Amino acid sequence: MYTEDDLQPISALQHLAFCERQWALIYLEGLWAENRLTVEGRHLHEHVHDAGNEAREDVRVTRGLHVRSFRLGLSGIADVVEFRRCARDDGTALAGLPGRWMPFPVEYKRGRPKRDRCDEVQLCAQALCIEEMLGCSVPEGAMFYGATRRRLAVAFSAGLRAHTEALAARVHELVREGRSPPPVYTKACDNCSLVEQCLPKALGAERRSARIYLSRAIAAMVRERQEGPDA
Ligand code: SF4
Repeated sequence: MYTEDDLQPISALQHLAFCERQWALIYLEGLWAENRLTVEGRHLHEHVHDAGNEAREDVRVTRGLHVRSFRLGLSGIADVVEFRRCARDDGTALAGLPGRWMPFPVEYKRGRPKRDRCDEVQLCAQALCIEEMLGCSVPEGAMFYGATRRRLAVAFSAGLRAHTEALAARVHELVREGRSPPPVYTKACDNCSLVEQCLPKALGAERRSARIYLSRAIAAMVRERQEGPDA
């Protein structure tokens, strides 16, 4: 179990899932490239949180809910959690209300659905936190994308849960190691907001040529020892 001081932000998981070096540049080295997209994203979250809570007949809506898990060492803010009245025993109780209620987290993103699972991981981490805090089940949630203005249902499958838990464990491992991995250019770099600071092509090439120089120097030394200096 982790303590309060160990908790890492849930938002870190999506950066880690995208690229370990991107995570390290942001969370270890304090680099953050603010651009139009990140500013719009921040405003969207603030707007959602400011909308306040809501009560409908069979649904209670909570916005900007602080969540945390000491088992995974994570904390964050869930944009929206709908508590839906349910007939299941594994829902949670709500103060002053009869029956059981099933939490349903909804995460807001300004863009479109992505091909990778970075957004789903973030939502799943919120679900795992809520399960631990309330001692109930959270079987599914949804992503809301600003560009399509649609919700996309996300089932918290065993596979998604295992992936999320593995990323949480990896965050803590990297925090303990405390050093940034070297840059390795991949296609992901073309969509990375930190490409200007990371310089994966230039630094990657530099590291490669240093490695080649070193391995050639070592090979020459070994040869000289085996054959003698005059060979
Ligand atoms: S530019 Fe590429 S290697 Fe560097 S942080 Fe971004 S994705 Fe990772």
